[in-house]
Amino acid sequence: MDVELCRAWMLRFSELVDAEADRLTALDAAIGDGDHGVNMRRGMKAAVAALGESQPDAPGHVLVATGRALVAKTGGAAGPLYGTGFRRAGKALTDTEVASAAEVGAALVAMLAGIQELGQAVEGDKTMVDALTPAVSAFEASAGDGLATAAEAAAKAAAEGAVATVPLQARKGRASYLGERSIGHEDPGAASTALLLRALAEVTAQS
Ligand code: ADP
Ligand code: MG
Repeated sequence: MDVELCRAWMLRFSELVDAEADRLTALDAAIGDGDHGVNMRRGMKAAVAALGESQPDAPGHVLVATGRALVAKTGGAAGPLYGTGFRRAGKALTDTEVASAAEVGAALVAMLAGIQELGQAVEGDKTMVDALTPAVSAFEASAGDGLATAAEAAAKAAAEGAVATVPLQARKGRASYLGERSIGHEDPGAASTALLLRALAEVTAQS
């Protein structure tokens, strides 16, 4: 992954968030406060603008700049969580100009670790961690087959992980206030994480 591919990943994620914002917001309206789509759309638009202005010269710098914009502009719980995740992923790539599939995998591991350190969620708590954890595992398991194959496996695992949050009771974030009433709905943050991995699969398939 070079700087252009990483930038394309972030642009595609922003497009998918934009296209799916109403669905993300509807999911959050069911078990939260109905702002996740709006939050993510605002944050990723700010990130894309920041990438245009700062012209990062390495994939890690693209992810750090995205994380910074998300922390500043997204709001909600998701802003600091994604912001930390992207910054950690970017830092894991250091100044590497072309990241291998294994290095992208390590960056995704760092993203998950950052999100879990900040949010203290574990798998099964009905959060974005439920989509990202299986995605990271699937990516790492097929990183030896190249970036596009690993990204496709990760996207599939993330989508399945998001759907698998439906029967869970939320134990973190706003949705946890609902107790058992959070059961029966897909977690919005898990749904947006599935879009992040879908975006990666799409841009790497074309590269
Ligand atoms: P808010 O809940 O503040 O309105 P958002 O609606 O933007 O923020 O994001 C909600 C999503 O954030 C949830 O669907 C969940 O995936 C994620 N989330 C909330 N708390 C945590 C946490 N402690 N750890 C991981 N993810 C979390
Ligand atoms: Mg919300």
